[in-house]
Order: sequence, then C-alpha cells, then structure tokens
Amino acid sequence: MPLSEGAIKCPIFQTSTFVFRTAEEGKAHFELAYGLRDPNPGEEMGLIYSRLNNPDLEVLEERLTLWDGAEACASFDSGMSAISTTLFEFLRPGDVLLHSNPLYGGTMHLISGILTQFGIEALGFNAEMEENDLVALIERSGKKDRLAMIFLETPGNPTNCLTDLTAMRRIADLFSTPEKRIIVAVDNTYLGPVFQHPLQFGADLVLYSATKYIGGHSDVIAGACLGSAALIHRVKTLRTFLGTMAGPWTAWLLLRSLETLKLRMEQQTENAWVIARYLAQHPKVERVHYLGLLDESDGRRYEIYKRQCLSPGAMVAFEVKGGEKEAFVFLNHLHIPKLAVSLGSTESLAQHPATMTHAGIPPQERASMGITPNLVRLSIGIENVEDLIWDIGQALDAVEEVNAHAAPRPALIMDLL
Ligand SMILES: *Cc1c(COP(=O)(O)O)cnc(C)c1O
Repeated sequence: MPLSEGAIKCPIFQTSTFVFRTAEEGKAHFELAYGLRDPNPGEEMGLIYSRLNNPDLEVLEERLTLWDGAEACASFDSGMSAISTTLFEFLRPGDVLLHSNPLYGGTMHLISGILTQFGIEALGFNAEMEENDLVALIERSGKKDRLAMIFLETPGNPTNCLTDLTAMRRIADLFSTPEKRIIVAVDNTYLGPVFQHPLQFGADLVLYSATKYIGGHSDVIAGACLGSAALIHRVKTLRTFLGTMAGPWTAWLLLRSLETLKLRMEQQTENAWVIARYLAQHPKVERVHYLGLLDESDGRRYEIYKRQCLSPGAMVAFEVKGGEKEAFVFLNHLHIPKLAVSLGSTESLAQHPATMTHAGIPPQERASMGITPNLVRLSIGIENVEDLIWDIGQALDAVEEVNAHAAPRPALIMDLL
C-alpha cells in the first residue's frame, strides 16, 4: 500500500475526509460515486469521505469476501446495522418477508416491531419445517405474490436446528417471477465465515454480526453483508445515507482479528467437541444439542449438516436434568465460562436462553422451539479444555440430584480427549 510508508500492517486511517489533488480529480471521484458515468478502464472510485469509503474498510471488505467466495462486501458498525440496512434496501411497503424461527432477538424485534410500521409483513416458519409443508404454508397464507425475501438463520440459536439452504433457494425460485427475484439472505454468524458458505447453496446475501467469531475478542461491535457486486452496491448506497458503516478503528480491529480467525474457530470447535461428548454421557444432563453429535439416526437433520456445514462449530446447548432452578445452580457455580450473552469469543460464555436472550418470545412459542427452562447455552472459547471440563464438572456436581438414585461417576477427561 503506497499510502502507508511501507508499514507491514494497514495503518488506521482515522480521518473523516480525503484531499483531492486537483478539482478535476474531485469531479471524477464524484462522477463515479453518483454513478453519473461508467468508470474508465482501470479507474476505481477514489477516496472522498469516510462515510462513503475509507482504506481500512476497503481492505477489510476485500479480505472478508475471500471466505464466502463473494464478489463484494459492505462492513457495518454492528450486526444489527448490517441486517437493518439490508432489509430496508430490499423490502418495500406491501412486501412480505418470510423468515425462519427462532431468529436472533434483535432481528426478530426489527422484523415484527419496526418493519411492520412501514407496511412490511412478516411470515415466520419453524426452521426445520419440511420443504413441502413450507410451500403449502406460503400458498395458504394468500401472500405468495408479495413475497420479496426469505431471511434465515442456520444453525439456529440456541438449539442448533438446521434449515436446508438448497431447499430455500428452490422455494424462492418457485415464487419468483421474471420481474422479481426473491432474495435469500442468511445470517451466517453461528458457523461462518469459516465453516459454512451459504452463497454456494444459492443464497444471495450473507450477513454477519462480526461482533462474534469474526471479531472474536469481545471488544468490538461490527457487522457485514456479502453477495454479488450488484446487490452490495445497493446495500452500500443505502449505507451511505443511513451512515451505518464501520469506522476505521473498528475495521482495523477486525483486520487484526481476521489473522487468527481460522485458528480460533478450529480450537474452539475442538474444545466444543470434547465438552459436548462429556456432557452427553453426564448423568445430570438430559440432552445435548451439538451438531457434532448428530448421526444417521437423526435422518434429514444429519443429511443437511453433512451437506452444508464444514464443521460443527463451537456452540453447545444442553438441558440439565430438572428445570430453571437446576440450570441456575449450574450457571452460578461456573468459574471459567463467564455468565454473559454474546458468543464466538476467545473466552467461554454461558447463558440461559429462556430468561435471557430469548426471554422476549411468548412461553408457548419458546417451548415449541425447544427453548426449555433447563436449557443452557455455552459458547466455547480457546481455554485449556481440561480446565473447562473440570469447571463444568464441578458446576454440575453442585446441581442437586433430581431423581434420588446415585449417579455413576462421569468419565475421566482422559477418555474424552
Ligand atoms: C449478535 C447477533 C446479531 C446482532 O449483532 P450485533 O453485532 O450485536 O449488532 C445478529 N445475529 C446473530 C445471529 C447474532 O448472534
């Protein structure tokens, strides 16, 4: 980068505006920014003002495209600003947004509490619904002609439920017309960008809370949207006018995080595997929700997992025997995983979905999503896995036996590694 005096790392361009060398250059930059003419061969849009573009953002966006094999990327100052800017760009009053359930709480509120105020209707479906049933649901709704976007989150938070992306593309195509292509957008925060690439399965847009794995250190809030150059051009245009772009310091932090992204996600996954297997054989655990534990007996879910996920990732949910009381005893006795929401960071985190991240969902709906009072969600970090197992073991020891029978001792760590 000639601008940076040979620095091995991209400097932070903490500047709001950029100097034009001549008035003619300034004119040329604005011609491209406003799309007043096509670029000459080799001509790129020059730097104008940091709400439109900034070197740190551009370097970050180019690097992020590599993981998903996307043509272009727009970076944002939060996952929610990436999601809200994208939804506002592609939805208009009267449109219907079809979405999987459950969704991230902020996204759900945006859809049902805010988009509805702009005349955009939502139609939700259970994330694991069969393709034929979903087609029937759309037909029956009487809204198929207004369908504009399918918004998905897979694996679903917190239970790791899976949605078949290829089937969702088929459904989008089924209801698209030559004039209107129904856009498939996937929030890939849980497994991406390393372990799942939705664009390969027919998605048009991939969204991230870069606060999670991409940032990876619980020290920055950021987001991203990726897809074709044409769609991202639209997203970036609205981003310019909403002002939801990432700042240079945020982009710089993410550039640093990207260098260890794969190492972190691989180590986190390795730890999660060991912990999931430990939990699965623990007498005080009723059920473990972890993609790595799926096998042929799980049928369609296993088939989707094998086809579209490259790894089970590092999010583990499990049900403690008992109810909320037992789950709270477990959480209150943890020392190493911290009791906090968010996920994907180097440190392990634990939380209680029914009363925390998913507290806003009506109890009956929550139960139908498998978010039970005894469910605990763990985001596994990069700590020494033996320390984590020790800590989880002692916190489970603190949970009172729900049925009075003496439990066999859990396996030793040596058997699990
Ligand atoms: C955290 C999260 C978001 C929101 O991202 P922010 O960076 O907090 O704005 C969206 N989707 C998923 C799946 C998330 O986990």
